[in-house]
Amino acid sequence: MFFRVLVSFLATIAGFISFSGASDLPPRHLSLLGAEPDWTQLDALQNRLSASEFKELLEELYLSRDAGLEMFRFDEEAAWVRTRRNAPNFYYRIGFREDEYSEQSEIESWRAAGWRGNVERPLEGLVIALDPGHIGGEWSALEQRHFRPEGESFVVKEAEINLIVVERAKALLEAHGVEVILTRAENRPMTDLRPDDLFPVARTEIERTQARANESSVRSLANLLFYRVAELQARAEDLKGRGVHLALSIHFNALPDFGGNQRLSDEPEHLHFLVNGSYLPSEVALDNVRFEMLERLLKRYDLREIALAESFAEEFSKRTELPAFRYTGPNARAVGKSGYVWARNLLANRIFPCPVIYLEPYAMNGRRTYYRLAAGDFEGTQSIQGREEESIYREYAEMIEASLLSYFSGLLKEE
Ligand SMILES: [Zn+2]
Repeated sequence: MFFRVLVSFLATIAGFISFSGASDLPPRHLSLLGAEPDWTQLDALQNRLSASEFKELLEELYLSRDAGLEMFRFDEEAAWVRTRRNAPNFYYRIGFREDEYSEQSEIESWRAAGWRGNVERPLEGLVIALDPGHIGGEWSALEQRHFRPEGESFVVKEAEINLIVVERAKALLEAHGVEVILTRAENRPMTDLRPDDLFPVARTEIERTQARANESSVRSLANLLFYRVAELQARAEDLKGRGVHLALSIHFNALPDFGGNQRLSDEPEHLHFLVNGSYLPSEVALDNVRFEMLERLLKRYDLREIALAESFAEEFSKRTELPAFRYTGPNARAVGKSGYVWARNLLANRIFPCPVIYLEPYAMNGRRTYYRLAAGDFEGTQSIQGREEESIYREYAEMIEASLLSYFSGLLKEE
């Protein structure tokens, strides 16, 4: 219900803006379907970071190659951040801490958050959200996570294989005393909105940016707003106030031409993990996006995200022997030491109310992985394409369990 109200509100604003005529429109100041931020919510995060820590986080993690700094001013005691893209004189002040910075240890920060792990049960007390990426069901083709190679009967719907892994991982983690929350438990949308509901917003945006709105570009934007924005906003909303320590967004990756030429690929498959960061200047320019970035920065989510992602990298690379995927564009930057961890600004890792790690192992259109997926979930091993293989779903879930156990057992040893 809230989202319907929000959309009609945005549609009203958009309608009002377009009244003034396309030529003199100010640049859009919010992301599509994004809400106006309440900067006073950062009041509780004042004086937490030193000047050098704040600048280092901006320059080395959150901003893509140092661009986007024009939204900030600095003096000795504070950073000043622009609150309104279209009004240059409005700033919010973020005070730096005065005393010498002493970083809270990872252990202290997890203990303060409610982790009660001990040698017998290292994961006790954790609240972990498992987010099976995408929607699936009747929506898998529309969300372009749907693949059936020529001459094969098994259809890969990424959302659905993600959910199988999540169900397996949930059972494993619950046995360790973890409270597991699923962001979806079925292959259907969590948002009440549908593409048709998003047509007015999509049309207004296309009219803003293109000389002539054509029906098919409006439709594709409405679809995208449905599966990539409204859906994740609904999942984020559902996680609020539930004390979630960590969200793991579960995906299978793909090699180029996934869903395009519908052929299996023999290129090497790969593996990587994503944390939040590397905001493009065009993203930092949006008021709500800038606010959301700063909230994560001030809460130092990066500490947990990067340390945990490195633990995932170690376990997953050891068991799958997959090489690290490498990004080349400006929207991702390498972080951590393993080579497997990258920072990107995606919607779930920006708006979920907790640290978030995206897991991106395997390639669904890779020959080996495709046939392992098609073989389904089973106990023990089976011969698949002449190779003795375990269930890929169990392997994935067990690697999640092993990564978390390794990280939290490591913390216990330091304590
Ligand atoms: Zn995915």
